[in-house]
Amino acid sequence: MTVFKGLGEFNDEREQRKMRLVDNLYAYLWQGSDNNCNTYVFAAALNQGRHLVIDPGHIATPFYREPGLDRLLKEMEGDGIAEAAIGLVILTHAHPDHCEAAAAIREKNSALVALHEADEATYQMLGGKVDLYLEEGQLVLGEDKPIKLSVYHSPGHSPGHVTLYWPDHKVLIAGDVIFYRSTGRVDLPGGNAGALKQSIQRLSQLDIEYLLCGHPYGHPGIIKGSEAVQENFEFVKRNFLF
Ligand SMILES: [Zn+2]
Ligand SMILES: [Zn+2]
Repeated sequence: MTVFKGLGEFNDEREQRKMRLVDNLYAYLWQGSDNNCNTYVFAAALNQGRHLVIDPGHIATPFYREPGLDRLLKEMEGDGIAEAAIGLVILTHAHPDHCEAAAAIREKNSALVALHEADEATYQMLGGKVDLYLEEGQLVLGEDKPIKLSVYHSPGHSPGHVTLYWPDHKVLIAGDVIFYRSTGRVDLPGGNAGALKQSIQRLSQLDIEYLLCGHPYGHPGIIKGSEAVQENFEFVKRNFLF
């Protein structure tokens, strides 16, 4: 069992932020002072070797104006993941700290943006345009070496929040549903504590080896090892919603 208890377990500053997690899945963990989200990337997962970016975050953070997008793109480039080859952006939900950069990536690289329909109105208010709707069910990326993801509609933090499960490697990309020892807020517009509780309950039934959270709240945001993941679900159930 491995738990990323703190930043001390990473070797250097660069390693704190980026990592190739498993197969072609990369994690870019936010380490700035201001709020921004963690970004996850499936490199060359789409046809023609194009990339899938999940939750690109802020262009610049709201208070300190830290460069979110530039930093992300530079780090991706360091891993050989070119911005120009981004083909799809998936948004777990339409909060600015997850979705702000999506419109810029879409415009510059002709990438498509995918979101659950129930978050579309919020996204449109922020100036965003949706190309594809994400629905509960299977999502297959690419044809040569297809990656099969399960999309779960996981409302509560927002009405159209989705989480993505990759059964081949037991990875759950959880967005703002659950964090290390905490949960997503339910006091924002469209939030619903009962729905969040159900979403967490449902996701806790999955066999998860890597729980990838949408933020590094007091923790890098990746909980590794099925035992540690279950422990975290139990902690949250005991102390928060249940
Ligand atoms: Zn959020
Ligand atoms: Zn968030």
